[in-house]
Amino acid sequence: MSQLKKILILGAGYGGIVTAINLQKQLGFNEAEVTLVNINDYHYITTHLHAPAAGTFPHDKTRVKIDDLLDGNKVNFIQDAVTKIRPDDQLVELKNREEPLAYDYLVVGLGSAPATFGIEGLLENSMVIRNINSVRMIRTHIEYMFSRYRNEPDRDDLVTIVVGGAGFTGIEFVGELAYRMPELCKEYDIPREKARIINIEAAPTALPGFDKELVEYAMETLERRGVEFMIGTPIKACQEDGVVVGDDEEKIKAATVVWTGGVTGNPLVADAGFEVNRGRVQVDEYLRAPNYDNVFIVGDSSLIFNEETGRPFPPTAQMATQQGINLAKNLVTLVRDGGALTTFKYEPKGTVASLGKGEGIGVVGKKKLFGWQAAQMKKIIDLRYLYMIGGISLAMKKGQF
Ligand code: FAD
Ligand code: NAD
Repeated sequence: MSQLKKILILGAGYGGIVTAINLQKQLGFNEAEVTLVNINDYHYITTHLHAPAAGTFPHDKTRVKIDDLLDGNKVNFIQDAVTKIRPDDQLVELKNREEPLAYDYLVVGLGSAPATFGIEGLLENSMVIRNINSVRMIRTHIEYMFSRYRNEPDRDDLVTIVVGGAGFTGIEFVGELAYRMPELCKEYDIPREKARIINIEAAPTALPGFDKELVEYAMETLERRGVEFMIGTPIKACQEDGVVVGDDEEKIKAATVVWTGGVTGNPLVADAGFEVNRGRVQVDEYLRAPNYDNVFIVGDSSLIFNEETGRPFPPTAQMATQQGINLAKNLVTLVRDGGALTTFKYEPKGTVASLGKGEGIGVVGKKKLFGWQAAQMKKIIDLRYLYMIGGISLAMKKGQF
């Protein structure tokens, strides 16, 4: 039987794939048995997903075959769905495999799930921007609703799109939608003024907590492109034919409702018995789950507090990527029994968001970016990531230029 230490990585998102790629680079053959489990045979670039959801970018360009990223001689890949994590037994159950997988070290990088805050009817009646399957459905759904309008011209709801939540996902999505809308209306012979994009936000401002000047710029840009905002207006319920909002329970009829109201940890982490704080596991300085020295949690299912603000860092690709790099280094140390682990310290580089083609906002270091400059910066960040995981050829193949 193999005496090699078994490292099992769950999820090939930002956290999981970056851990696997860095292990592949740093470990020699036969230093450890590394296995990655992912539901699909591809890694997707979550930070692009708002674009294929709106139909402005092909979904195929937002995914990369795992085989193209990993060397099968160094990392075994299993395409399957994780169904249960059993940390006390050091076992993980998969959907299509009778025998659970055993590990010495476990990396949980299973991403997030939509936060629904108990809003009635939300899961049943809205769509979410989460993965390739969900964004392909949003795009097709919108096109189908628009195609029906000429046959049912009294149904204004067919050309009304409600986006619930004006955080970064909501804002980036309405930006792409607004950019596509003139072409979409032309394609389906719909007067532009008939089609509505309504972005509904519970907080007193869009992008709560973000720089005020940039938020104003974003809202003005998007309003100019035809987005309607309802700010300070919580969605109370979601029904088959639209949403109910605000204290006076106003009904807004819409055949398309996309929920971008926030995320929580993957429910598998709470099911495993790890202590969770709003669905996420507060990890220690080595990214370990409480009470389990051999279980590491990265990405959207992990929680780290910002000591300066006393609030959690937002779950981002930037955080997941930095965690993956740190963790791979520590796993190499553990496998080699090579001494002290390196403490993880998150270094935020800034935030840049797209507002549709050629438009964006951002803060990088202390510098604020507006419009075209921000849009270019977003492309550079995305290209840098593609280059990091797959070199120049991947950046050329999948990048947006
Ligand atoms: P993910 O990247 O979500 O990956 C999770 C992986 O686990 C997926 O491959 C999934 O298929 C797999 N998986 C899930 N469940 C199972 C299961 N049961 N079995 C097997 N596999 C499973 N962050 C930024 O820093 N910058 C940005 O510009 C930015 N833009 C964004 C734009 C959009 C539209 C969205 C939605 C998010 C954006 N984010 C951005 C946030 C960022 O995408 C997430 O924080 C990041 O993807 C988290 O990485 P992760 O590894 O935790 O999970
Ligand atoms: P979020 O939590 O950042 O924003 C959700 C928004 O929905 C909030 O503004 C919230 O007030 C609002 N909301 C909640 N309940 C509501 C209700 N009942 N009615 C109306 N509005 C409601 O979530 P997100 O935008 O999905 O982002 C998730 C994570 O991904 C965040 O950490 C974010 O920073 C990150 N992200 C980053 C980028 C970027 O950097 N460009 C882009 C997308 C996402």
